[in-house]
Amino acid sequence: MQSIPGLAEEAVIDARERFHEFLRSFRDRNGNYKYRERIRQMITMGQKSLIVEYNDLYIFDTKLARLLIERPDEVLRQASEALREFIESEAPEYAEGIDRFYVRVRALPKTIPLRRLRSEYIGKLVMLEGILVRATPIKEKITKAVFMHCTREQGCHEFEWPPEGELVGEILEKPPACPVCGSSSGTFRLIPEKSKLIDWQRIVLQERPEEIPPGQLPRSIEVVLQDELVDSARPGDRVTIVGVVRVRPDTAKKRAVYDLYIDAIHLEVSQKLLEEVIITREDEERIKALARDPWIHKKIVASIAPAIYGHWDIKEAIALALFGGVPKITPDGTRIRGDIHVLIVGDPGTAKSQLLQYVARIAPRGIYTTGKGATAAGLTAAVIRDKSTGEYYLEAGALVLADGGVAAIDEIDKMRDEDRVAIHEAMEQQTVSIAKAGIVARLNARTTVIAAGNPKFGRYLTNRTLADNINLPVTILSRFDLIFILKDKPNPEEDRRVARHILEVHKDTERVKPEIEPELLKKYISYARRYVRPRLSQEAIQLIEDFYVQMRRMSLESSDGAIPITLRQLEALVRLAEAHARMALRDEVTVEDAEAAVRLMKAFLESAGLDIESGKIDIDIIMTGKPRSKQEKFTRIMEIIEQLESESEEGCARLKEIQRRALSEGIESNIVDEAIRTMRRDGIIYEKSIGCYAIVR
Ligand SMILES: [Zn+2]
Ligand SMILES: [Zn+2]
Repeated sequence: MQSIPGLAEEAVIDARERFHEFLRSFRDRNGNYKYRERIRQMITMGQKSLIVEYNDLYIFDTKLARLLIERPDEVLRQASEALREFIESEAPEYAEGIDRFYVRVRALPKTIPLRRLRSEYIGKLVMLEGILVRATPIKEKITKAVFMHCTREQGCHEFEWPPEGELVGEILEKPPACPVCGSSSGTFRLIPEKSKLIDWQRIVLQERPEEIPPGQLPRSIEVVLQDELVDSARPGDRVTIVGVVRVRPDTAKKRAVYDLYIDAIHLEVSQKLLEEVIITREDEERIKALARDPWIHKKIVASIAPAIYGHWDIKEAIALALFGGVPKITPDGTRIRGDIHVLIVGDPGTAKSQLLQYVARIAPRGIYTTGKGATAAGLTAAVIRDKSTGEYYLEAGALVLADGGVAAIDEIDKMRDEDRVAIHEAMEQQTVSIAKAGIVARLNARTTVIAAGNPKFGRYLTNRTLADNINLPVTILSRFDLIFILKDKPNPEEDRRVARHILEVHKDTERVKPEIEPELLKKYISYARRYVRPRLSQEAIQLIEDFYVQMRRMSLESSDGAIPITLRQLEALVRLAEAHARMALRDEVTVEDAEAAVRLMKAFLESAGLDIESGKIDIDIIMTGKPRSKQEKFTRIMEIIEQLESESEEGCARLKEIQRRALSEGIESNIVDEAIRTMRRDGIIYEKSIGCYAIVR
C-alpha cells in the first residue's frame, strides 16, 4: 500500500467536519438515518462506542474512507470528537459523564493474511482474521497521568501528563520538564489514584489452523485491546479484528529489531462454527447429487485415505465421526454431546498416523496434533508465563482450537499429565476449565476426537485386556464411542493383498484417486454438519432398544456375572445412527442407519476380543481388565482390611488375618495376594509394618 496522492493535510483537517456530516446525514437504502438511529441506541444502552460500516463511509465520502485507512490515528481522533459533538447536541448530560467516545469501524474491504503483514502497513488500518490463542488477565492502563513535581524553591504542585491532545503509548514517559514551572530538576512522582485508567489486555491472534500451509509453523501477532474491547473474546474464539499496525517500542534493550503489533479498534467473534468452509451454489448442487447416489456410504468410506488398504470398519468409524451425531439438551439442562470420539490402538508400523493426517485434511476445522500437543498448552489449555514480558497468558490447546471441528491426535497415550486430568471434561462436557495464576476461565471444546495410540508393551497382547494394553486410564477410555485395535500379525494371503495394493499405489497413483476428492468431501461434510439434523424414526429406536436389551439380558444369563453394555454405549449407538443418516443428508434415522450403528458397535466389541455370540459382553473387562466377580472380591477384601485395621491396636491388618477372614467367605489366598498387590500398586493400601496393611487416606 502506498500513500495516495491528493490526501493532503487539508483533508485531515477537514475530517472532523466531514465525519459530523456523515453521522448527521447518512441514510441507508431504505432512507433511514442509520447513524442518528445508532447513536440514539448507544445513548439508551449506555455505550460509548459507535460501530461504523466501512462501506457506508466509502459511499458517503471515498476520500475520507481512504484517508481513514492511510492515517487512522488522526482520522479516528477527529471522528471521535465529531461523535462527542454530535452527542453533546443530542444528550449533553450523557456526553458529560463519558470520558471518551469511540468510533469503531468494521468490515474493511479486504483482509490482510497474517503472514503478509509487513512494515509497509505500519500506522495503517488493517483487518485481520484468525484464532485467539492467548489472553492476559485484564490490567489497567493509564491514559492520563497526574504527576507531582517538587522542588526546593517552588514547593510541590500537580500537573496532568501527557499534554492535551497527546496519547499515552505502551510506555508512560516521564515528563522532560514540568509544564507548570518549566523546571526539569527536583522530583516527579506519579499519583496513580488521580490518574485516569482504562481496562487493558494483550491477546495473541494466530492464523487459523486450516490456513497454515502444510509443514509450516503458524504465524501469530499480538493485539492490544482497550476499554470496551477487553474480554470480548476468549482463547479458542475465531475473530475478525480491525486495528492500527504499530511497532513495539523496546526502550529497555535498544534493539534495532522491532515487533509489529495491532492496536485494535474493533473485534468481532465469528458466531457460526462452520462458516469458514465456503460452499458455492455449484458446490451445493454437486453435494446434493452425490447424496442421491445409493452407494454414497461406500463412496465416502472409500474416499478416506484411499492409499491405505483395507480397515473398512475403522474407516467407516472415522467417516461417522467426521459427520457426527446431533447434540441435545435434556429437559434438566444437561448437554449430551453429538461428537463421536474414536480411538485406534495399533502396533507400530500400521497406518495410524497416515489415517489421522488424512482426517485432518478432510475435516472442517481439522487439526492434526500429537498427544504432547504442538504448543505448551498441549491438548486442553494452560496458563503460561511469557519469557520476555513476564506476563501470564491463558493459552488454548488443540481441543479448544478445533472447537466445532475435529482434532486428530496421534500418540494420545503420550499426553501431558495436566491433559490427563482435563481431557475428561473436554470430551464429555466439551469445555475446558482452568484456574491458575489469577486466570479463571471456561473455554469451549465442542470437538470430535479421533485419536491413535501405541500399545504399552510395543505390540498388542491379545491375552491382555484393552486397558492393560494402552497407557490410558479407564476413565478416558470410556469416553470413546468406538475403539479399534489394529494388529500387525502375519497372514500370507492378506500380506500379499496389502503388498500388491501398495505396489500398485507406487506404480500408478491415479489408481488410488479417491472416489470423492478431498476438497469436495470436506465441503460435503461441512454441509451435512451445518444443515442436516436427523431425528430417530420409530423403527430405528426399536432396533437400537432391542439390541441393547438383548445384550444386557444375554450377559445377565451367563453365569459369571459379566457387566453388559451400559448407557454410554446406548448414547453412542444413537450418535452413530444419526451420523450414518447425515452421511446421506437424510433428516430421518432409518432402520438401516441403526443397523449400521449396531454393526460397528459389534465390530468394536469383537475387535476388543469379546465373544459376541456367547453374549459374554463385559464392558468392564474391556475397560478395567477385571471381571465383576473378581472386582467384587477385591472390594470385599478392602472392606476386610478396613475392618481389621479399625479393630487392631497397631492400626493395620495382618496378612494372615486377612487371608483367614477372606477364606471364611470363600475367597482363596491367591486372590487375596493378587488384590493386595494390585491395591498397593494403585496406592489404595500401603504396608504399615512388615506383613501389616493399612488403607491410604
Ligand atoms: Zn514544576
Ligand atoms: Zn454405511
